[in-house]
Amino acid sequence: MAGRETFFCYACNRRHEAASATGRSHARYDIDADASTSAVQAHIREFYLQTKGVQAALRILGFADVRIHPPRFGSGWPQREEVEHRFRALVKRHHPDAGGDADEFRRIHWAVEILRRYRPRE
Ligand SMILES: [Zn+2]
Repeated sequence: MAGRETFFCYACNRRHEAASATGRSHARYDIDADASTSAVQAHIREFYLQTKGVQAALRILGFADVRIHPPRFGSGWPQREEVEHRFRALVKRHHPDAGGDADEFRRIHWAVEILRRYRPRE
């Protein structure tokens, strides 16, 4: 750890003791780890955009109570089957051919695409 006893974790938005269990498992979220500032900033920006996208997508598909921790990569993701099930039910209900709202229909497709793309590999 090169003498660093704590580091700032961008997943939890606070510092961890490097030697603690949480610190060891969150070492990959260490904001101070990368020597290249621009690479770090690009990574953080991408991380927050993806996190916000995932949260919005969960809301649209009706998973308002879902909390993923650490954000995006952590545990708490709804089951893949449950996501697809809700997607199919919402698409049916909001289909423009059945009198549904076209914008809502597009949002539902956007949301399921975000959750398919950014779900961490199991
Ligand atoms: Zn953390």
